[in-house]
Amino acid sequence: MRFSSIGSGSEGNGTLIAYGDTLLLLDCGFSAKETVRRLREKGIEPEQLTAILVTHEHADHIKGVSVMSSRYNIPVYLTWGTFCCKPLQQRPLVESLVTIITPHDIFVVGSIEVQPVPVPHDAREPTQFVFSASQWRIGVLTDVGSITSHITNVYKDCDALLLECNHDLELLMNGPYPQSLKRRVAGDFGHLNNQQSAQLLKSIYSERLQQLVITHVSQKNNALDRVKDALVGAVGCCSDWIQIADQKTGIEWQVLTRKERIIEEVSL
Ligand SMILES: [Zn+2]
Ligand SMILES: [Zn+2]
Repeated sequence: MRFSSIGSGSEGNGTLIAYGDTLLLLDCGFSAKETVRRLREKGIEPEQLTAILVTHEHADHIKGVSVMSSRYNIPVYLTWGTFCCKPLQQRPLVESLVTIITPHDIFVVGSIEVQPVPVPHDAREPTQFVFSASQWRIGVLTDVGSITSHITNVYKDCDALLLECNHDLELLMNGPYPQSLKRRVAGDFGHLNNQQSAQLLKSIYSERLQQLVITHVSQKNNALDRVKDALVGAVGCCSDWIQIADQKTGIEWQVLTRKERIIEEVSL
């Protein structure tokens, strides 16, 4: 199983999850043209995509979905609440390409099993996802205002975790955003700050976690050394182990390797 990001942050998001012939794009927050350019940077042609999954209707997750889906005939999976949002009313999806998902029901796309996770965020019916194939589990968690016990339970036992570390609370509060936006971002339906992400990581951390990738980092209200300090402080990991998916290029393909798992299994 492997994954990559074509970009992560408030200006656009897209995560690639692949296993066998199945290739999923999670969110499409760039224009179609820009999405294709970024996919090609990762060695992918849009025709290769099995499906696009959408977490919620904010522009940084949905901008290119309708055009990409109709132009390249790509199925789209999303909740009813997301499907009914204004941007998708204005630029509708092709109905025959839409599958409405239930945030509590696992579904399968090709050879990948997908577990949606309902999350507190200021959208209509936002979900995040855990992807499974063979023995592997990849968790993706962004755009979350507060950690629920359900989130903590579902994201245990991941081999790879792509985790939002949106802002540093002190930098946000002293930063350039207007008060109303500061309240929104820091609120229970906004985004995770470094300390919240560190707390979550501590509660789900296990030997099984091979790869940790920080995502959706605010360019105005955070600093990478603060992110790393918070995470290293929480779980005592090596700071070099923590990877970043940034706004400009995301992250290169990461492969979950059998070798490390075999070593783990032998040591059990
Ligand atoms: Zn977002
Ligand atoms: Zn959002």
